[in-house]
Amino acid sequence: MNYYEILGVTPDSTKTEIKSAYRKLARKYHPDVNPEGVKRFKDISNAYETLIDDKKKLEYDTLNGFFKTYQKAPKNDQNAQKKQKNDEFSSNFAKKRAKKNEKFFSDIFSSLFEGEKYQKKSPEPENGSDINSDITISLREAIKGAQRVVNVVHSGPCPRCGGRKFINGSKCPVCSGSGEYSIHKRINVKIPANVKNGSKLRLKGEGGEGRFGGKNGDLYLFIRIKGNSKISYVGLDILYTVPVSPYEAVLGGEIVVPYMDVRFKLPPKTSSGQKFRLAGQGLKKNGKSGDMIITVSIEIPKTLSDDEVKLYEKLKKLSADNIRENIFNDE
Ligand SMILES: [Zn+2]
Repeated sequence: MNYYEILGVTPDSTKTEIKSAYRKLARKYHPDVNPEGVKRFKDISNAYETLIDDKKKLEYDTLNGFFKTYQKAPKNDQNAQKKQKNDEFSSNFAKKRAKKNEKFFSDIFSSLFEGEKYQKKSPEPENGSDINSDITISLREAIKGAQRVVNVVHSGPCPRCGGRKFINGSKCPVCSGSGEYSIHKRINVKIPANVKNGSKLRLKGEGGEGRFGGKNGDLYLFIRIKGNSKISYVGLDILYTVPVSPYEAVLGGEIVVPYMDVRFKLPPKTSSGQKFRLAGQGLKKNGKSGDMIITVSIEIPKTLSDDEVKLYEKLKKLSADNIRENIFNDE
């Protein structure tokens, strides 16, 4: 099969026709779509590369007798004849093409395989996607601030083939035909002091890479303060066991929840284990926020002064109520 037959065009076809024929066939026989089509795809690519290139096409036509003007050449001296022929072809060829296709000259510069040039005039800018990631820090780090190295996989179109996977009909050597490239990037992140649990840090431009001049996406880091024995998470809810001293439990008062920048009013005569739900004070993600559920834990200070102990002794004498007396009378 000659190149015209391979592409299903004629020597008179315009570049646009050749290009369009090529695209249709390339789509059909592209090895990604059709693993059986490797040889066919190569033939198609070779045919296209030759027919879309004026110099190569002229040579091909000359060698294979596709120009009728060839026969009209005067029969003089061999060399002169050859030169004249070529001149004639070039000029006829150019005139013919120019008439058939106004985009003739511009097309020369935008062959499908001229990667960078093609890329510039083609697709719309595409912005990169945002990357979301969690970052877990300790309570101490949450208060004092911290530095972290975050590993992010950046991916984007292959710089060599511009994401088209193939160059001149063979697999792009840089991306091995995937059209993509990805690099692992280590990003130094500064976590500000007094960061709130569930808050997010935005690192501008550190997300997925934009294509065709589009903007890079952003990297969002969701801060999670590491759970310890006092804090755990259920979905967006924070379960927090808050220590309360005996006198606070009796008298009530405002309690500042450690590390959370949250206050709540402890009612008088609160027992250990009593729970309080602070609506909207949980983790925040995608516009939703959970609650903070506080469990009161009455704890005895590790060090008690003599005076304090004396007061407890006084309390003991004063207290008429036996706390265990009615233990089963609740029902
Ligand atoms: Zn590539």
